[in-house]
Amino acid sequence: MIAFLDKMTATLDIKNLNVSIGDKPILKDFSLTVPKGEVHAIMGPNGTGKSTLAKALAGHPDYEITSGDALMDGQSILEMEPDERSREGLFMAFQYPMEIPGVTIANFIRAALNARQPEGEELNAPAYYKSLYEKMDMLKIDRKFTSRSVNDGFSGGEKKRCEILQMAMLDPKYAILDETDSGLDIDALKVVADGVNSLRGDNMGALVITHYQRLLEYIVPDHVHVLFDGRIVKSGDKNLALELEEKGYDWVKQLAETAA
Ligand code: ADP
Ligand code: MG
Repeated sequence: MIAFLDKMTATLDIKNLNVSIGDKPILKDFSLTVPKGEVHAIMGPNGTGKSTLAKALAGHPDYEITSGDALMDGQSILEMEPDERSREGLFMAFQYPMEIPGVTIANFIRAALNARQPEGEELNAPAYYKSLYEKMDMLKIDRKFTSRSVNDGFSGGEKKRCEILQMAMLDPKYAILDETDSGLDIDALKVVADGVNSLRGDNMGALVITHYQRLLEYIVPDHVHVLFDGRIVKSGDKNLALELEEKGYDWVKQLAETAA
């Protein structure tokens, strides 16, 4: 019975979410359930609200949630501060990651992990570095990387590697990746995909937001949803991504018009 209940609530559940920027409604009654163990992709033309979804879930102050709810394993996250959402197991990889000059990647990730320790406790440094280097080896990231400042002067590919390394170290319950593929060459794309694929499993749910089908050749999603004008206008399996690539986004616009 307990296992049954756990299974029922082990989801990222977005319910009728309405999000505005200023006075402009962007997401309109957006609903989606991502169970742990599944990878869902959200595709859609530029300007339809994909990043708005990611930022609203992260708790960005510019994105006003006018109604609806978002629950992680049954618990609403909307009243939580962004860092609390993160400590509860939500991870975001952003389209344009922030640069933090003067803070090394090793110290940045360590601080994030220490913030998850019980009050007054800290990670053991040798154990931390051992785990960091294991993850870096897994993701084929050069060790020199750890002593560089977070994203400072990084190429697009390096920023994504850095995000994926953070994700691997934080071991989230739910990960949201916003256009982690934009501007990436094929090698960097594979690093991102390998990272997500290696963390994929019963303990994590993922929402992969992408404009292009290309990333989904490497991260094969369980479900694909098409977003248009703040709403999901079509859902399907991985083949929907191929159909989109083939028919283009004009087709989506027609779908939305038919649905309206
Ligand atoms: P996508 O990620 O799908 O390309 P976004 O969520 O970034 O779309 O944007 C959705 C809409 O919200 C667009 O019309 C965009 O111009 C608008 N928008 C996004 N961010 C802001 C902002 N900070 N201020 C005002 N409008 C914004
Ligand atoms: Mg975007």
